[in-house]
Amino acid sequence: MPSLTRVEATARRALITVESYQVDLDLTGGGERFHSTATIRFRATPGAGTFVEVKPARLLGVRLNGRDLDPDSLDDNRLPLTGLAGENTLTVTAEMAYSNTGEGMHRFVDPADGETYLYAMSFLDDVQRLFAAFDQPDLKAPVTLSVSAPPEWTVAANGQLAANPRPGRWEFAPTAPLATYFVSLIAGPWHVRRAEHDGIPLGVYCRRSLAAHLDADLDEIFTVTRQCLDRFHELFAERYPFGKYDQAFVPEFNAGAMENPGLVTLRDDYVFRSAVTDTQRELRATTIAHEMAHMWFGDLVTMRWWDDLWLNESFAEYLGTRVTAEATRFDQAWTTFAIRRKAWGYTADQRPSTHPVAPEEVADAAQALLNFDGISYAKGASVLRQLVAWLGDEAFLAGLNAHFAAHRFGNATLADLLASLSTGGARSEPASPAAANGAGTATGRDLTDWAERWLRRPQVNTLRMETAVDADGRWVDAAVVQTAPDAHPVLRPHRIGVGRYATDGTARRVDVDLDPDAGKGRTELTELIGEPATGLLLPNDGDLTFAKIRLDPASADAVPMLLPGLDDPLARALLWGEAMDAATDGERPVTGVVSLIAAALPAETEVIIAEEVLTLSRRLIDRYLDPLARDAALLRVAGACAALLAGAPAGGSLQLAAARGLIAATTDTALLRGWLAGDGVPEGLAVDTDLRWALLLRLVVLGAAGEPEIAAEAAADRSATGAERAACCRAALPDAAAKRAAWEIVTSSTELSNRLVEATAEGFWQPEQAELTAPYVERYFADMPAAARLRTAWTADEVTILAFPRYAAAQPTRDLAAALLARDDLTPGLRRWVTDLDDDLRRALVARTAVAAASA
Ligand SMILES: [Zn+2]
Repeated sequence: MPSLTRVEATARRALITVESYQVDLDLTGGGERFHSTATIRFRATPGAGTFVEVKPARLLGVRLNGRDLDPDSLDDNRLPLTGLAGENTLTVTAEMAYSNTGEGMHRFVDPADGETYLYAMSFLDDVQRLFAAFDQPDLKAPVTLSVSAPPEWTVAANGQLAANPRPGRWEFAPTAPLATYFVSLIAGPWHVRRAEHDGIPLGVYCRRSLAAHLDADLDEIFTVTRQCLDRFHELFAERYPFGKYDQAFVPEFNAGAMENPGLVTLRDDYVFRSAVTDTQRELRATTIAHEMAHMWFGDLVTMRWWDDLWLNESFAEYLGTRVTAEATRFDQAWTTFAIRRKAWGYTADQRPSTHPVAPEEVADAAQALLNFDGISYAKGASVLRQLVAWLGDEAFLAGLNAHFAAHRFGNATLADLLASLSTGGARSEPASPAAANGAGTATGRDLTDWAERWLRRPQVNTLRMETAVDADGRWVDAAVVQTAPDAHPVLRPHRIGVGRYATDGTARRVDVDLDPDAGKGRTELTELIGEPATGLLLPNDGDLTFAKIRLDPASADAVPMLLPGLDDPLARALLWGEAMDAATDGERPVTGVVSLIAAALPAETEVIIAEEVLTLSRRLIDRYLDPLARDAALLRVAGACAALLAGAPAGGSLQLAAARGLIAATTDTALLRGWLAGDGVPEGLAVDTDLRWALLLRLVVLGAAGEPEIAAEAAADRSATGAERAACCRAALPDAAAKRAAWEIVTSSTELSNRLVEATAEGFWQPEQAELTAPYVERYFADMPAAARLRTAWTADEVTILAFPRYAAAQPTRDLAAALLARDDLTPGLRRWVTDLDDDLRRALVARTAVAAASA
């Protein structure tokens, strides 16, 4: 199927204007196909020709301005339209296929009760699997949907229900103008809860089998929704523009959520069936806020083409985090952003596939999908946070409001946004004296230079502290040195704080503007000269900019002693991040991170920090250390988790995080078996369904549980999640036949859903099973080209990543990757991900060599 190109979209936009879609879907047939009729009214340059997109199982009829066109003229997904009139009416009828990949019309049969659920996902170009459409973001039109479905079902869509003329028939009111990728509906015996806030009808939906779990959290979900709506209404002049606000938790969803106007869809893993940590609750809140931010950024004002994807995602990520921190009980959302989301952004920005936040040009829609990465989300949001620090919040918000007013229900580009920010903020004073003195003023011209450096250039700067101390132990030099990688030598203006955390427990912050054009990137901190050089200096304290940081050696030495006593969670998060990033780059050994975990983790009080340190450090331990060193490291990590667990309040998030960390690191099978049987469980810790699966997975990996135990657990948990956990455990069995079966699923199955294939791939590679899985390193590179073509892009990419031999950090693996990448028949997704994942192996090998050389 050809992917729509930017050039084609621009040409079509010049020829036609879409006035409306009238869509009728009949969902009453069997489990394979549904019936679709779309009538599109559009204006065109008379005599012109173009095409409409549709991906039918069978095209039944095409009628343009009263004449029938030949359905056989469909070429891939394009139906040519010639001899257009000024005003046109096109009707396309088709049989469409249900999907099991989360794209188009996903059909799911709940193993818990046999009920069938449908939901539509039109993103990115999958509206064509629902009905015929001019499928590009800047051809917006109102959509009027009607649906026939089993009468006992519930059906909801973007628009308000207008009529239920008879049982089994739903007719929805016309929507506001929508980009085609936002059209959504849900159909099935959904469990529904409704409320209202500030005149806006609210609804939440989930499968019946999850009803009790949704109801248990209903108050929290509605409270967060109300708080976020109120905050957005304080920030923005334009009220929520799409009428009702429904949120549907749907099964086997690929993304976290999708911002369909009026009907947000979210993965139903967010309906918690077991105990969860506050981090998971915060993530759900941030997702709710993120999708709500899209109602303005993305839905009300939509990017003209996919090269401005960041206009959607960076803003939603920034505003979602900000509004969560400001309006809900999750006031540490910026700490989560610092340690989790930004780590994702830094990783993405250092990979071979790095790209600017706002690329000049994204050639086609398929290419756009690959840019849904840590750059478009986390880096872009960080850059916006830096813009707010640089421009001042008032000017920033004035610019946004000017942008919404100028482009409401339309489309906009980066240039449009910069124009809005310049004029909207022109009358505001710069936010600090340093800016007024010439380091950067909030004028249009300077914003252009700022945008060029921050938005148009890829890669990340490093901010390194350099200090010198005299014989009396006082600083005679203290400077922040900004560098950039050789391949992308761009320095940037950074407005940052430098934190001084003294050994006596006092803390203060020095604000500084880093001028990219002065001092070859070196900025002196004159305020510190002559002060006693004790404690540590933390660059980017407050986390206002996007940059790797490095401490000066004396500060780095002081971290193990000082970190546990720092009150500010964000400062602790930055110090942990620095330590793990330095180990990733081979500047310090991974064993240093392990020592820091032993020293500081037992004292950690912020659950997100404990969880993320355990997750990120585990990546280093599993990839960078040889088996003996890995065993020793895991023993120390398990010890730190046990200490954290012993001191954690009973029944709280920290206790659960510590228990999960201990389960993942320990080799004490007696302890694991004991907890499964209810013996020796710490008071307050619930060994519930999800924790049982975690215990079983670890026992399976260690060879201490097998198929009988997995089957018994699956029999006790007949949910969709239970099936996924069982698939993961089966793939993790240290057994040649199990690995063969799992590999067959990963590389060949299209019968199983996206989630079951992914769960299998997730369980396959285990560092403990290197010998058993060694033959599959070669198999990966042999089998993936065909496997990637077997599936649609989203699932194919997930499987490519999860099935990659990530623990085989050795030159022969890299040689196999190089041979694969030399082929010319790879899908764009496979090429992109193998390039990046191979680069992760390269970094691991470089770091190992550097650390070995330093200790020799
Ligand atoms: Zn988003």
